[in-house]
Amino acid sequence: MHPIENIFQTIFSHLLPSACIVCGAFQQHTLCIDCSLLLESEQLLNYECCQQCGLTLVVDELKEKRCRACSTNPPDFDETHCLDRYDGRLQSALHQLKYQRRLACGHGLASAWNQMMSGSLMNSQANYLLPVPLSSEKLCARGFNQSWELARRIDCDKHIHKNPHILRRHHHVQHQAQENRANRQIAIQGMFYINPQYQNCLESASVIVFDDVMTSGATLNEIARVLKDNGVSRVINWVLLRTLYPSS
Ligand SMILES: [Zn+2]
Ligand SMILES: [Zn+2]
Repeated sequence: MHPIENIFQTIFSHLLPSACIVCGAFQQHTLCIDCSLLLESEQLLNYECCQQCGLTLVVDELKEKRCRACSTNPPDFDETHCLDRYDGRLQSALHQLKYQRRLACGHGLASAWNQMMSGSLMNSQANYLLPVPLSSEKLCARGFNQSWELARRIDCDKHIHKNPHILRRHHHVQHQAQENRANRQIAIQGMFYINPQYQNCLESASVIVFDDVMTSGATLNEIARVLKDNGVSRVINWVLLRTLYPSS
C-alpha cells in the first residue's frame, strides 16, 4: 500500500470505529478478535493440503503431499497457498467487495490475509506479484479489480514487485460458472496474454499470481501456462478463498 494511504488508514482506524467484516460488530479493527480467533482455528493452514493446487488431501494422498489429480496430471503452476475455504466466514465480505463495491471489505480481507498468511509466506522468494486481471470492459463495469485491491494491500517481501499491468485478459462474453469443467478449460484458452511492454522481464522469473477465488483452477492454470510460455520458471498461486471440491 502507498505509505500515505497507510498513514491515513492508521489514523482513521484510531479515530473511527470499524465494522468487523465477518460479524459486523463495531470496534477498532476490520476483523474483531473473536472472528479472528475463529478464522485462525478454521483456516486451511491447519489442514494438510495439496502443495500444488491447495485442495485438502485425503488419507492416502498425505504421504505425497499432493492430490491424485496433481500427481497424475500436474498443472502448470507449482504451488498454491489459500487463506480460507470459499464457503467459510470470509465469503460474504468478498461478495460485498465485488458486487456492492464496499472497498472497506477489501481492506479488511487484506488485513485478515496479513494477519494469518504473512508469517508463513514472508520468506517467499519471487520477482513479481501479479493479480489475475479483468478484461478492460469488466474493469470499466466494476470500477476496480478486486484481486488487485487485495494484492496491493498484502504484506510481502519488499523485493517482490507488485504489478497489475503485466497480465492482460481479453473480454469474453460467456459465463464461466455455467460451463462444466472440460468446457471451462477450453473456453479459457487464449484469454490471457502478456502486455508486450513487459515481455522481456519475465525470463527465468519467479511469479506469484494472486486471485480472490480459486474454483476448478482452470483460470490459474491457463495463466501459469501463458507465464511459462513467456519464460517464467516458477508460478506460485496466492488465493484468498478456495473451493475445496472441484466442480464437475
Ligand atoms: Zn467479528
Ligand atoms: Zn492438487
